[in-house]
Amino acid sequence: MTLFAFIGLGNMGGPMAANLAKAGHVVRGFDAVPEAVARAAERGIQPAATLREAVEGADAIVTMLPSGALVLEVWRELAGLVGEGVVVVDSSTIDVESARAAHALLPHCLTVDAPVSGGTSGAEAGTLSFMLGGEGAAIEAARPLLQPMAGRLIPCGGPGAGQAAKLCNNMLLGISMIGAAEAFLLGERLGLDRQALFDVLSTSSGQCWSVNTYCPVPGPVPASPANRDYAPGFATALMLKDLRLATQAAEASAAPTPLGSAARDLFEAFGAAGGGGRDFSAIIEFLRAQAAE
Ligand code: NAD
Repeated sequence: MTLFAFIGLGNMGGPMAANLAKAGHVVRGFDAVPEAVARAAERGIQPAATLREAVEGADAIVTMLPSGALVLEVWRELAGLVGEGVVVVDSSTIDVESARAAHALLPHCLTVDAPVSGGTSGAEAGTLSFMLGGEGAAIEAARPLLQPMAGRLIPCGGPGAGQAAKLCNNMLLGISMIGAAEAFLLGERLGLDRQALFDVLSTSSGQCWSVNTYCPVPGPVPASPANRDYAPGFATALMLKDLRLATQAAEASAAPTPLGSAARDLFEAFGAAGGGGRDFSAIIEFLRAQAAE
């Protein structure tokens, strides 16, 4: 049994913390919004009124917050509260630079950046993929602790490497979803039946997650958001956040990512046109509407 403090009990953090409690750990939860703490308390989390109260005596701390600035704000506060050898994990999706700066704030702790893939359904099911960045000893200490929330735990390298891998993955996802949408739109114009085109793409060299698992047209993959009018799922606003982080990282490291930039621009335009709350696979509707103009 481990005493956890979980900071940030939103759409992801709430169910992740609940899975730690379900596995038999004691989990104290804190969120800036009291309603989020109250919701988590219904799922076995001990409510804490402050960050200090949540982390007092904790063996392990997980943060799950919206941005790099907030992670740094919370970790700065942790620096004055947390003793030597405590495992501190950030699972938010943030920029690589902030992730590295966060590690440097707690040199006496075992720190890991551990962003996740798998969305709210993976958070509920405890099947998230964690991409781990940190020193070897910190990663080894964190692995068994993260297990109740995880399908897979993938060590990616030193501090910041988990965030770097996450940004590469989500940039590719944004690009591949636009590619899948373009293929289905071209198929429509050429008079192809959707299901027939799906049967080809999903078994030929065009196959990818955006076609096979998350197909952007209704019909072929019953569980994909296209079948529920593109309710997320993975909202366009979150995809846009990740593409902005990826293209910032590309600029800072002089990596050539012309399609990453194009994907960011298209999702920017879709977001500005009111699509931010829709699933990111609804980009197909945005492209179709543009062609009709
Ligand atoms: P969310 O907005 O639902 O939850 C974030 C929570 O953090 C909120 O409840 C907010 O009140 C709380 N918070 C903000 N500042 C705080 C502070 N200073 N102290 C304590 N609590 C604070 O967001 P989410 O969907 O749970 O996402 C969390 C992170 O996970 C983000 O970085 C996101 O990019 C990433 N992520 C989300 C998904 C997804 O599908 N939702 C998938 C993978 C990764």
